[in-house]
Amino acid sequence: MTTHLLNTYAPAPEVFVGGDGAELRTQDGRVYLDFLAGIAVSALGHNHPRLVRALARQAELLCHTSLAGVTHENAALLAEEMVAVAPAGLSRVFFSDDGSTAVEAAIKMAAQLWRNADRPEKSRFVALDGAFHGETVGAASLGGIEVFRRPFAGVLFECLRAPFPGGDDAYGEVFRALERLLRERGHEIAAVVLEPLVQGASGMRIYPESYLAAARRACTESDVLLIVDEVFTGYGRTGAMWACDLAGVAPDLLCTAKGFTAGVLPMAATLATERLYDGFRGPGRALMHGHTFCGHPLGAAVAREVLAIYRDDRVLDGVAPRAARIAAAMARIATLPGVQRVRSLGMVGAADLGDGGYHGAAGPRFYDAARRRGLYLRPLGDTVYVCPPLTIPLAELDLLLDGLHDAIVEATA
Ligand SMILES: *Cc1c(COP(=O)(O)O)cnc(C)c1O
Repeated sequence: MTTHLLNTYAPAPEVFVGGDGAELRTQDGRVYLDFLAGIAVSALGHNHPRLVRALARQAELLCHTSLAGVTHENAALLAEEMVAVAPAGLSRVFFSDDGSTAVEAAIKMAAQLWRNADRPEKSRFVALDGAFHGETVGAASLGGIEVFRRPFAGVLFECLRAPFPGGDDAYGEVFRALERLLRERGHEIAAVVLEPLVQGASGMRIYPESYLAAARRACTESDVLLIVDEVFTGYGRTGAMWACDLAGVAPDLLCTAKGFTAGVLPMAATLATERLYDGFRGPGRALMHGHTFCGHPLGAAVAREVLAIYRDDRVLDGVAPRAARIAAAMARIATLPGVQRVRSLGMVGAADLGDGGYHGAAGPRFYDAARRRGLYLRPLGDTVYVCPPLTIPLAELDLLLDGLHDAIVEATA
């Protein structure tokens, strides 16, 4: 993204050299609290000692083998363990490298499934306005944020879109439009792709569980696959293991990355139902998609340890008390002048300064005000948000939320 080319928010970026829990240490010895868990990745905090040990242990044994006709223990066991924590009906696991490739794999599975079933006309994808599903061409084609689409407009494939009208019940209208699309054009649609409950990159916009459940029913009625992109929402971010769990929804395909290795290595997974799996069995029907690093042994060892820590430390049980503190802080922030659309769900809290949007001036002012308070974050334009590590100690969380409040006051003064 642009940040690799130039630093969006002057002055020059910090040089981080160390991490521990929710803390990041700079080259010159200052300590920041990490608001963002490194873009919702370090769900267990930085450098969790069990994850570092699991990585080192596996590195001594075997760093790489592919899954091309062979397997290795951690990939096989990880697949079993993922199925055990997945929403009902997801019984098969495809490994890849990051969130974008997890989505890319889901797109291609959906497309080839209908071809294999002699229904090649079912080749369209539906995605929402404001959607973000990653950076590769397929995933970016689903993307509905204009500033990310425009530079690549000539090569992205066209989706069917449920438009986002704005207004009080915008999502009600979005999902009614989605249901209309499914009724009228379901025969040409391969899949609907959704960020469940939170549209992250377009500004941490949150919608009700009932809409996700209704989308599931509508997909089933028109025999369209439902792909949920839990790259951001998964691993407890919204309060349950998966946002789908909150809505009681069982998708056909589920994409996970970010929290999957808790930031230790890039690795991802696409989970699928038995129906998907069966659709690729038999001569000439194999899924024509695979990655060099599928089921990478180091990543698989770390991802298994992540799940073990979630079990042993009951990480999800720790979310509710932290979520309550975030909600209380956001309620206090909602009373400040110049702040709009304050919202929170689980361990995500967000508010718009000014009118929101990607090009406002309050976001950069807030970034500076927060940095001076030792808080690391990166607003999405004028939207400020927090998604700290799920395991952040309560005392640090309180510091962070107080700092958030004060930095907003300063930025909107
Ligand atoms: C971050 C993100 C992606 C892309 O993941 P990468 O690992 O950056 O490729 C896809 N979908 C959602 C919802 C995300 O938040």
